[in-house]
Amino acid sequence: MSFSLSGLFSNEIAIDLGTRNTLVFVKGKGILVREPSMVAIRKSDRKVIAIGTEAREMLGKTHRDLEVIRPMRDGVIDDDEVAEIMIRALIRKAQTNRLLRPRVIVCVPSGVTKSEKRIIRDSAEHAGAREVFLIAEPMAAALGVGLPVLDPIGNMVIDIGGGTTEIAVIALGGIITDTSIRVGGDELDEAIIQFMRRNYNLLIGERTAEEIKTRIGSAAKLEQELSIVAKGRDLVEGVPKAVEINSIEIRDAIEEPISQIVDAVKNALEKTPPELAADIRDRGIIMTGGGALIRGLDVRLREETSLPVFLAEDPLTCVVRGTGKVLDDMETYHKVLLPN
Ligand code: ADP
Ligand code: MG
Repeated sequence: MSFSLSGLFSNEIAIDLGTRNTLVFVKGKGILVREPSMVAIRKSDRKVIAIGTEAREMLGKTHRDLEVIRPMRDGVIDDDEVAEIMIRALIRKAQTNRLLRPRVIVCVPSGVTKSEKRIIRDSAEHAGAREVFLIAEPMAAALGVGLPVLDPIGNMVIDIGGGTTEIAVIALGGIITDTSIRVGGDELDEAIIQFMRRNYNLLIGERTAEEIKTRIGSAAKLEQELSIVAKGRDLVEGVPKAVEINSIEIRDAIEEPISQIVDAVKNALEKTPPELAADIRDRGIIMTGGGALIRGLDVRLREETSLPVFLAEDPLTCVVRGTGKVLDDMETYHKVLLPN
């Protein structure tokens, strides 16, 4: 029988509290929880009906008394009461050792306010945490990618989440410049919904829009253009309808939010101090977050910035893996944590 002492005694948890997905990593065990940041609530008595994946299944299918809430919309806490419920539930879900209160590091968007930090800290404490540390998202993303964040070298990370895009230059364990816009993968979905409504009189739901985006969405010309059948409700006739759409139309539909992301990257480059800009010119830019998976975004950014641009491996888990690295070696990495 094998028996791991460290597994028994350590109880250390890293959380990526994303606007779209929340991931929980347990030291020595890996990523144990990976769920949409959503909570289904019964409106009449505010009772929690479902959390995470189960709540997402209900999206767009709720009746009058049921509501699916995304407590972390736009990169900030939108509903602190529900955010706390979600944080507590997901920490519990990952807790393998209920006897020992965990040490927790939560990754937060770098724009969070002091009071939001307080809420996150309190929620984690209410969920049983013995110690709570916070880390800024771009720093965690950079660590997850394996960039040498403590060295005197400039690194640029673009993290494209559901509600925000964060672009940061990191060196010597700190964030030197940080540009954040409230445009992320969700805005692409929204643009697709508008496009279908305007051009086809077709009303589609958020989940359908996201599926169209992931299946045929792109930010640059494709070698082989794609097509898909979109299903929704005809706005004129009121009946279910299906139409075939192609990747050229969808590229056009999402051009506005895509160009906002591209412009934000250009702005960030302009703000970068010259010595660090020289490093970035040599080393390039790395993209993380689920939004970075949109086809051709690397090509588009390369064209527009003339810099090397790379997509991180497994971009959806970079942030939580980076936060996990801090847990693994607090002695080396404590300096990248946010001050209280
Ligand atoms: P957050 O950190 O805000 O929780 P994530 O990093 O989990 O966000 O990314 C979620 C976003 O990534 C969503 O908008 C989702 O639609 C998008 N996404 C996930 N997979 C893909 C894909 N293959 N192509 C395009 N977008 C994707
Ligand atoms: Mg994220």
